Amino acid sequence: MPHLLSESERAFFERIRCGGKGFEFKNWANTFHCKPLYYLAPETECEVIELVRIAARHGLPLKPVGSGHSPSDLACTDSIMLNMDKMNRILAHDPYACTLTVEAGVRLHQLNSMLEQRGMALSSLGSISDQSIAGAIATATHGTGMAFGDLSSTITHLVIIDGTGRRRKCGATEDPDLFDAARCSIGALGIITQVTIQCEPAFKLHAVQTPDTLDHVLDSLDEIVFSAEHVRFWWFPYTDNVAVWRANRTTQPKQPHPESFLRDRLYGYYYYQLQLLKARLTPDDIPRITREHFARRFNRRIETVDDSYKVFNFDCLFPQYVNEWAVPWENAADVLRQLRIWINAEEQKPDGVRVHFPVEVRFVNKSDVWLSPAYGQIVCYIGVIMYRPYHRAVPYKKYWRVYEDIVRTQGGRPHWAKAHKMYYYDLRKAYPKFDDFVKLRGECDPNGIFVNDYIRRHILPPNEPILTAGSGSGSRSLTCEKPRL
Ligand SMILES: Cc1cc2nc3c(=O)[nH]c(=O)nc-3n(C[C@H](O)[C@H](O)[C@H](O)COP(=O)(O)OP(=O)(O)OC[C@H]3O[C@@H](n4cnc5c(N)ncnc54)[C@H](O)[C@@H]3O)c2cc1C
Repeated sequence: MPHLLSESERAFFERIRCGGKGFEFKNWANTFHCKPLYYLAPETECEVIELVRIAARHGLPLKPVGSGHSPSDLACTDSIMLNMDKMNRILAHDPYACTLTVEAGVRLHQLNSMLEQRGMALSSLGSISDQSIAGAIATATHGTGMAFGDLSSTITHLVIIDGTGRRRKCGATEDPDLFDAARCSIGALGIITQVTIQCEPAFKLHAVQTPDTLDHVLDSLDEIVFSAEHVRFWWFPYTDNVAVWRANRTTQPKQPHPESFLRDRLYGYYYYQLQLLKARLTPDDIPRITREHFARRFNRRIETVDDSYKVFNFDCLFPQYVNEWAVPWENAADVLRQLRIWINAEEQKPDGVRVHFPVEVRFVNKSDVWLSPAYGQIVCYIGVIMYRPYHRAVPYKKYWRVYEDIVRTQGGRPHWAKAHKMYYYDLRKAYPKFDDFVKLRGECDPNGIFVNDYIRRHILPPNEPILTAGSGSGSRSLTCEKPRL
């Protein structure tokens, strides 16, 4: 491959090269790896355009990567990988509209402080702020709150470089189809270089976490989801225990909740990880470990008042396998009841599946972004987890299979960042605008330079030869196969 590049192209690649030869990309949880042929870090939009043109000319697929937090092969490529970290500048600030325009590689934690300095904040955030803004909207990353959409829905304009190297700006009244598709486009339409984000004036949150029971929460879900602006809860399998977290905007003075080194760090992180390591050999211990952690760490009222982004985020502990789907929120209680029946039945079997805590439950307002799992409906995201103590594997596939069977029967749509088993025909049924998205993808990326295994597996029509990167000399035609997950 390298010989395909001209002298000047090679010099350009060398100038923006990032990392040594033989660089291996690993996602955050170290569950997916790839070895890109070139790992490059563009600094400007012009460089991105130039890179796309070179990639298209030589048939070299191209993938931008944010912080690599997606627990799947979504960002993987063995061709050109673009590290977008240098594209993290502020481009415009409109205090009247309360918007900020930034380059797409900016990390959410950088964005939080840029906004804070200007007296603004994101209206809702997920559990962490490590992601890049483009990576986060690529998968419709979300927080929680019945009146709050996912991050994709907060974008008012964006600029995307399509697969021909064309710079396209879009917004609600400017190329609206591209706008509705690109705000959650799992990297399939092009490279996003700029986004304008609708924010709100900076605010503090008053959060209260209280213990409750699953039956009570599910029986009164209609009331609980509206009991605060932002509500989420964690269920502890093998118990009827949940911890309900409610947060509202407040003007009260700050009252941060200090982490206890003994309880939260030593016991909640290090000891828990050791316990899970040991439980790989003695899985029957898992229900006891779960009960013990609920009793010692979560069976109490925890109250905090602080800047919004500090309260939204929390410690996600150590590497993990995760699976998360969105279901119409009215179906959430059924999903959780079915999951509980299965987990309890497995506990009775000597060789049954044992699962880690928690099961995380969050709520997101409906969206008009074509591929947002919240497209056209308020949803409840239900996340299941299996930790990888000290990066060691644990069995999770049967848990995932059963969980996915349950959520599919309840109208579920998977979180795009996470490994899942929804393919072309399933997705066509699940998303009214899926065909439009696939058509637009063909127009935006006629040579398939943004196609990687994930896009081929889930988005492209199966059994249809697709011209992908390399049209012209060395062109490849691909057919889609279901993976052996
Ligand atoms: C510990 C942890 C906690 C998490 N918490 C939450 C949560 O609370 N809520 C939630 O919804 N999700 C959550 N996630 C999932 C996470 O938000 C998504 O995986 C998100 O996509 C990661 O962003 P990233 O910058 O790491 O993107 P990457 O994983 O690097 O990339 C994701 C996709 O974005 C594409 N992309 C990146 N940059 C660009 C660009 N400039 N233009 C076009 N495409 C681009 C990539 O090609 C890839 O397809 C969590 C993940 C982890 C590991």
